[in-house]
Amino acid sequence: MLWKKKEKHADRSRGTPEDLIARIRRDVPRIRDQGNPPEKDPTSFAAYLCDLCNTPHPLSGLRQCTLCGRWTCESCWTGEFYICNSCNGLKKLHSLQQGRESTR
Ligand SMILES: [Zn+2]
Ligand SMILES: [Zn+2]
Repeated sequence: MLWKKKEKHADRSRGTPEDLIARIRRDVPRIRDQGNPPEKDPTSFAAYLCDLCNTPHPLSGLRQCTLCGRWTCESCWTGEFYICNSCNGLKKLHSLQQGRESTR
């Protein structure tokens, strides 16, 4: 059971999620500036469009991704990191790469 504890320690020194996010931030194209409002749905008055799935939602149902600036609905949103699912896909790629780099 001792080695299992060790593994956990190594995991922690490999890099915090914040490091990972910082790396992705450099790779992600900025779709929208932080604070810019989401796209309005031209067919309805109160709704805004999710930048990923293009379905209309009230403003309260959308969140802005802290990386790319996309506005996404709940189903396109990764709450754990305050990013959209598109950036979360990138994050997964990065964590795979990171895992490979540190297997020495
Ligand atoms: Zn969506
Ligand atoms: Zn994003």
